[in-house]
Amino acid sequence: MGLTRPQLMEALARFGLPEKQLRMRAGQIWTGLYTRGLTSFEGMTALSKDLRAALAEAFDISRLEVVTEQKSVDGTRQWLIRLPSGVPSVPGPEIETVYIPEEGRGTLCISSQVGCTLTCTFCHTGTQKLVRNLTAGEIVGQLLVARDALGEWPDSGRNNDDRLVTNIVMMGMGEPLYNFDNVRDALEVISDGEGLSLSKRRITLSTSGVVPMIEKAGEEIGCMLAISLHAVNDETRNRLVPLNKKYPISELLEACRNYPGLSNARRITFEYVMLKDVNDSIEDAKELVRLLKGIPAKINLIPFNPWPGSPYECSDWAQIEKFADFINRAGYASPVRTPRGRDIMAACGQLKSETVKKRASERFKQEAQPSA
Ligand code: SAH
Ligand code: SF4
Repeated sequence: MGLTRPQLMEALARFGLPEKQLRMRAGQIWTGLYTRGLTSFEGMTALSKDLRAALAEAFDISRLEVVTEQKSVDGTRQWLIRLPSGVPSVPGPEIETVYIPEEGRGTLCISSQVGCTLTCTFCHTGTQKLVRNLTAGEIVGQLLVARDALGEWPDSGRNNDDRLVTNIVMMGMGEPLYNFDNVRDALEVISDGEGLSLSKRRITLSTSGVVPMIEKAGEEIGCMLAISLHAVNDETRNRLVPLNKKYPISELLEACRNYPGLSNARRITFEYVMLKDVNDSIEDAKELVRLLKGIPAKINLIPFNPWPGSPYECSDWAQIEKFADFINRAGYASPVRTPRGRDIMAACGQLKSETVKKRASERFKQEAQPSA
């Protein structure tokens, strides 16, 4: 799962298919996997019975394991997914995927890593110790899980104009630009015109500001870009997004100015989490407008979503409105992102897999016991 077309053809060549069949067979398997959502070769009747049996021996196309599904009162759905550990009978790490239905669109928020090596101080994911990169198959697999659960495969009678997952945001757990190759390959599979077929205009990658990878992302991925800015001076941003010490605001915005394909029709989204008395003054709003001058930009204000033990408070609603008004008057449509799925801890920055928390607390208990 998650192999790009050329990679799939290579894998089939290693498996022993003759060169002249590779393109056709890869196409047939691609249709089975990504147009029809099949989880076994059995249903790929374009292939002979013997070939299907041999492929089933050699390749694993099963779904990721869904541990739990939660539904918010607002319709948001969240899946806790257990990844393989690679060691039999050892449970693997867990990730979260969130589906947010809105009027006229449905957004799937996908994770790129288990946990995150960065430690933004307002983000729950950043407190999770265990970290590993997801494979391309595990990234694509989250969309497949969501389409299963939503009943969104053609065999269920749905047509392509009536899609449930219309947009993808790489805004789940992890820093996507720290898992560049797998994210790039997964998005290539997802945006392939046959199969899942979600256009890159409808895919947004959010980064906390890994400056050296931004231009490469534009060139090799070419999806929409979102930047987690959150502060307008280095002192505050160093505190909120410690990566800023390595790549300060001026360098980050320079990389944005140079983002390939940037235009008024393809703006960069700047995300700004509203933290009470930290970054929410009108002075901050003024500075924000000044900094973004000349960059085709959208500003997305995110009310801070608290989590157990979080060291910040969300700005007062009146202050968020004042801030948004100022930005609006400066010519930016500045939607305030309505918190979704807060009741099931599925909102921005609340993702952190439960079992890892439990395991950490068990570890803590064990460590607290006197050793023999
Ligand atoms: N690592 C990437 C993508 C995942 S985070 C990044 O940082 O951009 C997706 C968005 O949610 C980011 O803008 C992040 O800063 C924001 N976020 C994190 N914690 C939050 C919280 N507690 N409340 C609101 N937004 C939060
Ligand atoms: Fe990682 Fe993004 Fe959370 Fe920062 S906000 S800790 S980069 S997931």
